[in-house]
Amino acid sequence: MAIDYDGLLASGSMMGSGGMIVMDEDDCMVSVAKFYLDFTVEESCGKCTPCRIGNKRLYEMLDKITLGKAEEGDLTRLRNLANVIKDTALCGLGQTSPNPVLSTLDNFPEEYEAHVKESKCPAGQCRALMQYVISPKLCTGCTLCARVCPVDAISGDKKLPHFIDTSVCIKCGACMEKCKFGAISIQ
Ligand code: SF4
Ligand code: SF4
Ligand code: SF4
Repeated sequence: MAIDYDGLLASGSMMGSGGMIVMDEDDCMVSVAKFYLDFTVEESCGKCTPCRIGNKRLYEMLDKITLGKAEEGDLTRLRNLANVIKDTALCGLGQTSPNPVLSTLDNFPEEYEAHVKESKCPAGQCRALMQYVISPKLCTGCTLCARVCPVDAISGDKKLPHFIDTSVCIKCGACMEKCKFGAISIQ
């Protein structure tokens, strides 16, 4: 794709101030869309309803998705609202604000679906959807993780595989940082 005015417009983006951010598979596209929408919600002057109210509702829908609380049909509602805002907002700010939502929906539908249908964030960025897991194959039972866990979510006997109680875990990451055997991962 040519990086010029027409090329960016055709791909659902636009020429901005000349900056470019390169992202990879470790970036969650739903969170990225939410990040940009947050900016618009802050910057909206409030003169027209689609931008003033619509973008807040759009943000709430994205938030719900990143928290793993979205339901079947929410993605259709998200797209519909984004299109309404795009078509009816008064000025360029509101008319372009749904672009990050629409372009990520078009180009990364599987990421949205993983959040909604499987309660998973493929990039491992949405904290509410993360789960710290100990591999029984790699765990040596050194007990270090259990000793650093601030909420006593890890149990296990010395020299035997340990286990994380995900209902107690607060996802602080301390155990993973301490494990010298690479036995703890985020899923
Ligand atoms: S679209 Fe423009 S006029 Fe409407 S609320 Fe947003 S910034 Fe104001
Ligand atoms: S620190 Fe790693 S190896 Fe040691 S008990 Fe915990 S998960 Fe197992
Ligand atoms: S992520 Fe934090 S709270 Fe969860 S098991 Fe590891 S140390 Fe405990």
